[in-house]
Amino acid sequence: MAMKPKREQTAFVREVVLPAGPDRKPVMDARRMLFPLRLGRSRIHGWGLFAVESIPRGRRVIEYTGERIGGREAERRSVRPSVYLFRVGPSRFVDGVRGGSGAECINHSCDPNMTAAITSGRIWLKSLRMIAAGEELTYDYRLSTGVMMPCRCGAANCSRYLSSIR
Ligand SMILES: [Zn+2]
Repeated sequence: MAMKPKREQTAFVREVVLPAGPDRKPVMDARRMLFPLRLGRSRIHGWGLFAVESIPRGRRVIEYTGERIGGREAERRSVRPSVYLFRVGPSRFVDGVRGGSGAECINHSCDPNMTAAITSGRIWLKSLRMIAAGEELTYDYRLSTGVMMPCRCGAANCSRYLSSIR
């Protein structure tokens, strides 16, 4: 049988585009979760994170982890089909594609059940209210820049658009 010719791939595609591509299988890191959570298909978009047990209000739920990068590298990576960059400062980002806890799969909602709190450079997602078992976890990405894309969160107060850069 003849060998298939190898498709040429640039280093940029291998290192930047593919790790966040549609075939990406998210990995959960239980050490970063303070409540049992599970990964599943979301009604909002792609993968989502769901509560296995009910979570009381005002509690840390999961830490958003990943590779720490600067603004120029974040800009380079923002061409990905899915962007998993969390902004922690004017030119500081955490890229959940590498070393992510699973929190990078949490979807945006205009009526979220969690909020992000940055403490000593670490990102904690905390419950804004009681979250029922089986409920999808969400937070407001609070995007200010980037290309506008439609929001499918389904909330009554949905602002209809969010940007592609977190
Ligand atoms: Zn929305």
